[in-house]
Amino acid sequence: MKLNNGRYEMQGVDLLEVCNEFGTPVYVYDADRIVAQIEKLRGSFSDIQVKLKYAMKALSNINILKLMKEAGVEIDTVSIQEVQMALHAGFEPTQILYTPNCVSFEEIRMAVEYGVVINIDNIGILEQFGEEFGNRVPLCIRVNPHLTAGGNSKIQVGHIGSKFGISVFQMRHVRKVVEHFNLNVVGLHMHSGSDFLESEVFLMAAEVLFNEAQHFPDLQFLDMGSGFKVAYKENDITTNIEAIGRDMSREFKKFCASYGRELELWFEPGKYLVSESGVFLVSTNVIKHSPAAVFAGVDSGLNHLIRPMMYGSHHDIVNISNPKGTQRVYDVVGYICETDTFGSDRKLNEVRQGDVLAMKNAGAYGFSMSSNYNSRFRPAEVMIYKGEAKLIRRRETFEDLLHTQIEVL
Ligand SMILES: *Cc1c(COP(=O)(O)O)cnc(C)c1O
Repeated sequence: MKLNNGRYEMQGVDLLEVCNEFGTPVYVYDADRIVAQIEKLRGSFSDIQVKLKYAMKALSNINILKLMKEAGVEIDTVSIQEVQMALHAGFEPTQILYTPNCVSFEEIRMAVEYGVVINIDNIGILEQFGEEFGNRVPLCIRVNPHLTAGGNSKIQVGHIGSKFGISVFQMRHVRKVVEHFNLNVVGLHMHSGSDFLESEVFLMAAEVLFNEAQHFPDLQFLDMGSGFKVAYKENDITTNIEAIGRDMSREFKKFCASYGRELELWFEPGKYLVSESGVFLVSTNVIKHSPAAVFAGVDSGLNHLIRPMMYGSHHDIVNISNPKGTQRVYDVVGYICETDTFGSDRKLNEVRQGDVLAMKNAGAYGFSMSSNYNSRFRPAEVMIYKGEAKLIRRRETFEDLLHTQIEVL
């Protein structure tokens, strides 16, 4: 989103025009921005085989998946429905990694039938898998290295109390299970929580995988998961992708040399690829003065963008209808009957009833975490593709709310 001659634009498309055409609330994604992030990430690595597996839970619209496919990015899924969606988008089963946690064995069986790459994160399931499939089905093992780096307690998945992965301290047991069932382990995986900032932390995690990998002679890849951080505020510290790329390329090459074969290095970026591509546009319903604050009440709430309320995340907010207005301080709040504050004490150009506010960094975990709470419709989604605004999901209607309900009274 760029200010150009007093108008906020994306690829030259006026965002207020998008609101006029498709209404608010609406998510708008810049396809070029996604492709630029892919290229930046890829370009940071040299002389090693890198594969990107987009963590589709961040933003799972079918058109975004197809965009990823066009750009040569593959897919990381966490549920069988995501597997089905990725297949629907045209990915080959072998391009889809399935990384479930605490799902039923029935679901894993389905994934095997689809022929996707299975990532197992529990010794009990590993044994059950061995019992049923032996060495007929290749698999990947998710290791928990118990690293605590991470942006916020809800997304540090590597620590000791985490439900994710098989503890690195249990790997001797894992090797016995693998030997007993003659399992075909083709990959080792870790995803140590979002928001890894430092190249050193990445390297520490990689070191853990490199050491374990020596015990598995048939590997084809190591998967380092994600945790690439983007800037949510001006001057936010972000992951230094060039440093990680440079250091990881060097260390991975060393590892391959000692392993005796060139393996692929996989990453599973979600947020990094799509967060900054998205803005969430809402209209101001009311301006309300209270003794403590001036509220700008908008036509959305935690039902559409729950990150600020759930994680305390910051999303920059801009009044795109009044770029020259006097700056005043507002609490931007939703219309849901719960406290749903998008941002407190935000300095915005004067907000008037009807003004459109843009919440930035809304591409990741925005629409994909939305709900129908308060019987509200989920918003529309628009993708700006080759300079044109394309509606990629219509706003819901009252029929959608009734669709799955069965009236028995
Ligand atoms: C959520 C998730 C990711 C993506 O995390 P981001 O912080 O969005 O990059 C990657 N891998 C797995 C297994 C995940 O569950």
